[in-house]
Amino acid sequence: MPVEEFDVVVAGGGPAGSTVASLVAMQGHRVLLLEKEVFPRYQIGESLLPSTVHGVCRMLGVTEELAEAGFPTKRGGTFRWGARPEPWTFSFAVSSRMTGPTSFAYQVERARFDEILLRNAQRKGVEVREGCSVAGVIEGDERVAGLRYTDSDGGEHEVRARFVVDASGNKSRLYSSVGGTRNYSEFFRSLALFGYFENGKRLPAPNSGNILSVAFDSGWFWYIP
Ligand SMILES: Cc1cc2nc3c(=O)[nH]c(=O)nc-3n(C[C@H](O)[C@H](O)[C@H](O)COP(=O)(O)OP(=O)(O)OC[C@H]3O[C@@H](n4cnc5c(N)ncnc54)[C@H](O)[C@@H]3O)c2cc1C
Repeated sequence: MPVEEFDVVVAGGGPAGSTVASLVAMQGHRVLLLEKEVFPRYQIGESLLPSTVHGVCRMLGVTEELAEAGFPTKRGGTFRWGARPEPWTFSFAVSSRMTGPTSFAYQVERARFDEILLRNAQRKGVEVREGCSVAGVIEGDERVAGLRYTDSDGGEHEVRARFVVDASGNKSRLYSSVGGTRNYSEFFRSLALFGYFENGKRLPAPNSGNILSVAFDSGWFWYIP
């Protein structure tokens, strides 16, 4: 079987993978991105910051596509947190560096957001292969020289590259194939639960798209419209 060669091969097509792949391809390099799922796929984690929307997404060229997607606009955050029970609100526009048209972000559905970024990577020249699960790395002379992956038909492949990016997310164990370990904080031994609710109430305008964070005796929650 012929072994393909690229300048960069990326494992994982979430925001990290599609962003790095796009930015490298936009510099004229040959990039392969391997994603085990077929998009759109579910993912948790949706509350963005202005620097993502007006910085990274602008560099990627998806600002207009995001604006047209109709995601709720987030002007800041509202907290019920601290010594007093009254909620308080911060606005991104409070910062003199963000006042004006870039003082907002979005609350996104990650399945849609991640697909926008992945399809944009394809348009930027990245070779995107979905349904391709990375199984491990190819080791060269004291460095990683490529990846081994299985395609959706069960076919096994090897691809070599000058640089390999692991953007396979927090559930992946790809790092362990290069001797990596993950150290969890002893201090933050916490448990997170999440769920989705229909017809949830919103804060009054203009803060209806804000994230709401509330502390209570045994923990805290945040609520994302
Ligand atoms: C409960 C919860 C709430 C969160 N809320 C927020 C929030 O509000 N705002 C925020 O910014 N962040 C939030 N996060 C964090 C956010 O989800 C992550 O930071 C983000 O998804 C990381 O992006 P990523 O591209 O690194 O990885 P991922 O989004 O996990 O993408 C990794 C990709 O790699 C693919 N993959 C995995 N293994 C392989 C393999 N072997 N071969 C090929 N592909 C593979 C996966 O299918 C996936 O598509 C939250 C996280 C949790 C758990």
